[in-house]
Order: sequence, then C-alpha cells, then structure tokens
Amino acid sequence: MNRTELKLFLDGHGGEYEYAFDVPASEITSFRCGGNAEAVIYPNGEGALCALLRFLSDAEIKYCVLGCGTNVLIDDAGYDGAIVITTKLTELKIDGETLRSECGRGITSCASAAQKAGLSGLSFAYGIPGSVGGAVTMNAGAYGGEISDVIVSADCWDADAQKIVTLTRDDLSLGYRDSAVKRGGLYVLSAQFALHRGDPDAILAEMNDFMERRRDKQPLSCPSAGSFFKRAPGHFTGKLIEDAGLKGLRVGGAMVSEKHAGFIINAGGASAGDVKKLAEIVMARVLESSGVALEREIIYL
Ligand SMILES: Cc1cc2nc3c(=O)[nH]c(=O)nc-3n(C[C@H](O)[C@H](O)[C@H](O)COP(=O)(O)OP(=O)(O)OC[C@H]3O[C@@H](n4cnc5c(N)ncnc54)[C@H](O)[C@@H]3O)c2cc1C
Repeated sequence: MNRTELKLFLDGHGGEYEYAFDVPASEITSFRCGGNAEAVIYPNGEGALCALLRFLSDAEIKYCVLGCGTNVLIDDAGYDGAIVITTKLTELKIDGETLRSECGRGITSCASAAQKAGLSGLSFAYGIPGSVGGAVTMNAGAYGGEISDVIVSADCWDADAQKIVTLTRDDLSLGYRDSAVKRGGLYVLSAQFALHRGDPDAILAEMNDFMERRRDKQPLSCPSAGSFFKRAPGHFTGKLIEDAGLKGLRVGGAMVSEKHAGFIINAGGASAGDVKKLAEIVMARVLESSGVALEREIIYL
C-alpha cells in the first residue's frame, strides 16, 4: 500500500476521516484477536465513504468494509490493506411505518428506535451486536425473523459502476446468511425497512424476552463472533458439537464454549490460528460422529 498517497487523500479532506495505521485486529473485531490491519479508516458520512471507496479502487489499494466487526476473524498475518469502518454513519429516520438507517448504526439501536415509535418487525434483531450494513450483508436473523422479512431496499455503492445504486429486496437476493452484497462489489450505505404498527409495551416485552434468552444461552462475557457455524439443515449445530463431546475443547486460547457449543470463544490470549485450528477439529469430529459437514458462518479476512 502506498501510505503517502493514502495519507495525502485523507488529510486533504479536512476532518472527513479518522484513521490510523497498523491497528491490532483485537481493537476492531469482537473476537479480540488477529494481526494488524495496515490502515483503519472511519469516514464521517455517506459522501466521505463513497469518495474513499472510489479513491481506494482508483489507487488499487486493497480494502474491505466492516461495521462492528462481530462476524469476522482477521488472520494473525494481519490485513495488508485498508479496513473501512462505517460506525460513524448512524443517521436514522422514521417516516410512517418505514425506518431508514445509515449502514453504521447498530441494528439493535434500530430495533429500539422502532419500538419507541410503536413499530413492530425488528424485535428479532434486538441483541444482534452488528451494524445495519453487516446485518444486510449477512441477512442476520434470530428467533424466527431475519433481515429479508423486513427490508424494502438498500442504497449501495457499486464498486464496478462507481456509483450509488438502489437495490430492492429482490436485487439483494438474500438467502440464509447470504446476500448479493456478501458476494462482492457492493457496499451498503443505508437500508429501508417496512415495519408495522404495534403496541410499544408488547414490542418491548418481546425484545426483553429475546435478550433474556441470549443472556441465558450465549457466552456473552467472552469475546467471540457469535455462532461460528451455519445451521446444518435439519439439525441444531450446537447439539451436534455437544454430542460429539467437544464442549470445552481447547486449542491454545480458543475454546468451544461450555455454555453454547455453537460458539467458539477467545477464552484468553487466543490467536486467530488457534480459532481456525479448533474450528477445523470441530468440523472433522462432527463429520466423523454424525456425518454432517458443518459450514463456517464467520468470515476470514
Ligand atoms: C455475541 C454475538 C451474537 C450474535 N448473534 C447473532 C444472531 O443472533 N444472528 C445473526 O445473524 N448474527 C449474530 N451474530 C453475528 C453478527 O453480529 C452479525 O452477522 C452481524 O450482522 C454482523 O454485523 P457487523 O456490523 O458486525 O459486520 P462485520 O463483522 O463488520 O462484517 C461482516 C461482513 O459484512 C460485511 N460488511 C459489513 N458492513 C458492510 C457494508 N456497509 N457494506 C458491505 N459489506 C459490509 C463485511 O465486509 C463482512 O464480510 C452474533 C455475533 C456475536 C458476537
């Protein structure tokens, strides 16, 4: 990466970007492990984000876009490019039964805003620790709901066409933890959700119930990226791992959670290599014991 050229661009746009070089992955991901990102950049608005993505493409600097970093694992060798983090893009508007949010706002915060406005439909997302952009990319879901149930459209930066495009729900081609955005070349700037009127107290009760269930079942006090593996059709992944006798299995600082076997946690001082090695062992042992081939949900960078 040509740091001088990148610095020149960032400094030349008076205050539109915060940035740092050689940032440990532990500071930008929920797994709290991995090597250094060569550059980490926080644009302060949609215009700044698009201008940066255009610049990075033109300058042929490798980049990726992250929200809250709650579904990624950065390699111990680090990321030899620019990681663009969207968490300063947080504008939210509610118009009638439509909620529109910029990509960097927490999806949990969107669920709270909807509840306060007496709008139902986003309760399932309360407690998912990611951003709107990450939730759309991953078609995040929980407790019987997912983003594809409520999304109307998303404004995205199209890196090939170098322009903003509006993608409808169909264009986004959302599948199980999958989307057109995840497949590459598109970056979510904002998303619109269609909600419906509901009783704020009932919505709040449902949200609190979901949060309670998370606290009860998930190892929330340890760093992780949530469920490490996708749901295997017809099975509960956590149970498959538990039945293979793998709860508590460790490689270095990485461990199969005792509380929820579907989570690999950083139990202290884990490297990304520890996590990857442990995931490979889990996949091999589950295949051996049940014949089910697990697939990874989290993204390796
Ligand atoms: C404790 C815990 C519980 C979890 N529970 C759930 C759950 O119940 N359900 C669920 O589905 N997930 C869950 N997750 C996983 C994760 O929170 C979700 O996948 C979330 O949607 C990821 O959002 P993020 O902003 O952290 O994305 P990141 O981890 O930052 O990024 C994930 C992917 O999306 C891409 N991306 C992010 N933002 C953009 C953007 N603006 N444009 C284009 N691409 C983008 C990244 O490049 C990356 O490929 C959990 C994670 C943790 C740690």
